[in-house]
Amino acid sequence: MEQVVILGSGPAGWTAAIYAGRSLLSPVLITGNALGGQAATTSEIENYPGFPQGIGGMELMQLMQQQAERLGTRVSFDEVTAVDAAAGVEEISPALALDLASIGRCVYGHQSG
Ligand SMILES: Cc1cc2nc3c(=O)[nH]c(=O)nc-3n(C[C@H](O)[C@H](O)[C@H](O)COP(=O)(O)OP(=O)(O)OC[C@H]3O[C@@H](n4cnc5c(N)ncnc54)[C@H](O)[C@@H]3O)c2cc1C
Repeated sequence: MEQVVILGSGPAGWTAAIYAGRSLLSPVLITGNALGGQAATTSEIENYPGFPQGIGGMELMQLMQQQAERLGTRVSFDEVTAVDAAAGVEEISPALALDLASIGRCVYGHQSG
């Protein structure tokens, strides 16, 4: 049963998913149209620790996705059209196959724009 829904599949989204997964919160991450976010559009990233030779942006984002999935994240390839957080009850459209009543938190994996 999902307790956390994460919107966006950029570095922020996958980071949230990794943390939520490690906390056994069974997160669902909804990717949006830009799978991997902005980082996936660049050929080489040289400022991430752990990659002394640099790494391709798409490759890095695929590794983040693999890590999040290994830790229990379910990935939904969809675009969210609305979030209603009124009165503490959050609704996400499309509702997909999510049991919204079970969702405790909604995390926005999107810092920019
Ligand atoms: C060409 C380029 C090169 C870059 N190079 C570097 C670099 O070398 N090093 C570096 O540190 N940074 C680099 N950056 C910056 C880096 O990519 C961003 O700082 C980073 O991607 C921000 O991550 P984020 O997860 O906050 O947002 P984003 O990467 O912007 O991801 C946003 C996510 O939200 C999703 N989303 C949006 N709307 C919806 C919706 N309605 N429903 C569901 N999902 C939605 C999108 O699909 C996307 O997956 C570069 C950026 C660009 C464009």
